[in-house]
Amino acid sequence: MNRLYHESEDWVAQGACRQYDPELFFPVSTTGPGQHDAELAKAVCRSCTVRQECLRWALAAGEAHGVWGGTSPEERRYMRRELAPAS
Ligand code: SF4
Repeated sequence: MNRLYHESEDWVAQGACRQYDPELFFPVSTTGPGQHDAELAKAVCRSCTVRQECLRWALAAGEAHGVWGGTSPEERRYMRRELAPAS
């Protein structure tokens, strides 16, 4: 599971990433040298049965690092901007 393990979240125990090295989900970047790891992590997420729960959690928590729910930090920042109420 990703390094921010939350025992209270039922979906965490079902994450496909539990079978992989957590560092895969925290590449040094999502471009350049880290891009390959980020793409591998996203491929694991695509097969994960709790992807939606994971993404919801990451968006609500404002998780700024790592691949969660098949998304990079940059993709989540974009999603948060898009989901934010218009001011
Ligand atoms: S969506 Fe990805 S990061 Fe989230 S629990 Fe599943 S495999 Fe892990």
